[in-house]
Amino acid sequence: MTSRVLVTGGAGFIGSALVRHLIGESDYRVLNLDKLTYAGTLSSVASVADSERYEFVRADICDAQAIAGIFARFDPDVVVHLAAESHVDRSIDGPDAFIETNIVGTYRMLRAATRHWKGLDRGRQGSFRFHHVSTDEVFGSLGPEGFFVEETPYDPRSPYSASKAGSDHLVRAWFHTYGLPAVVTNCSNNYGPYHFPEKLIPLMIVKALAGETLPVYGRGENVRDWLFVEDHVRAIRRVFEAGTPGETYNVGGNSERTNIEVVRQVCGLLDGLRPRPDGKPYADQIGYVADRPGHDMRYAIDAAKLKRELGWEPRETFETGLAKTVAWYLANEPWWRAIQAGQYGGERLGLEAKG
Ligand code: NAD
Repeated sequence: MTSRVLVTGGAGFIGSALVRHLIGESDYRVLNLDKLTYAGTLSSVASVADSERYEFVRADICDAQAIAGIFARFDPDVVVHLAAESHVDRSIDGPDAFIETNIVGTYRMLRAATRHWKGLDRGRQGSFRFHHVSTDEVFGSLGPEGFFVEETPYDPRSPYSASKAGSDHLVRAWFHTYGLPAVVTNCSNNYGPYHFPEKLIPLMIVKALAGETLPVYGRGENVRDWLFVEDHVRAIRRVFEAGTPGETYNVGGNSERTNIEVVRQVCGLLDGLRPRPDGKPYADQIGYVADRPGHDMRYAIDAAKLKRELGWEPRETFETGLAKTVAWYLANEPWWRAIQAGQYGGERLGLEAKG
């Protein structure tokens, strides 16, 4: 019988990449559970929506009754939990939704998953997985040296990372207290196709094409490790198929870049693929703006455990992945123009430290 994977947040950036991967490259049946907040759009899964192995249900992970009904009906073998409020700047302006969805919502998912898991027969209980997708931001900020490993103590600095840290702790508690076979992955910054244009790379692409200033926070020296989203999705699948319950795996791309390097690379790719009408470089549009409050200086991931134990490695370098990404945005203007025409027009977020 084909296994069933319940994906929460499957209309978002990473969730939609996972759904497309599972429908395109596996036999799993997939139920995509998503509230369709501003960040979720079904246009990201349109390419697989007609598959008989795919279904979508609009629901809120905080709604215990709705979630219980979905577990009872779909009867999943695997839950991959990605639904979250995910944008640091929005968490500074309005933390409420982050606490609700990321902490309370994860708690409701754990309750429902545990009840479901306890009702399975012994064989299915053994192979059931609750996979919680989290971020390297829970580890706080690094200086110029060193890497986050799985044992690095948590030290979250933003409402977003604190809410994700809280959810990670809940997942581990459900493993230790109730035996729920849970795995956690903490991943670095993702980029790639279908990325909501409020995040750094797509924001720079769409602003560059619009002839607008490319707003770089502070001096652009903050360092992030970048991972192509399709590599992340392959890592997720590897972990829920072969990872050990109770374990955490760091996922990263071995691609540390300062923000200004990233923006300059985007500009260089656009210069080649879609030169400015006046022939000048897109980098002329770079402008420095006030830094994000509490902006973490550097994140860097050591993903050696995932390679050593489960044999996962990224296929893309930052250069190959970024080239694919810029080309995708140029070829898929209708996708991001529809989002811009909806609610988000590229305005600056996250300066209001309201708390
Ligand atoms: P995203 O914001 O693009 O997508 C989140 C999805 O969750 C959206 O489709 C949204 O509609 C849905 N959602 C939000 N609240 C919900 C609720 N209450 N009930 C049901 N659905 C809800 O986020 P993303 O970038 O795809 O990130 C997915 C997950 O991966 C998040 O948990 C995030 O913390 C984690 N993560 C992201 C990155 C990254 O670089 N983007 C890196 C590491 C980990």
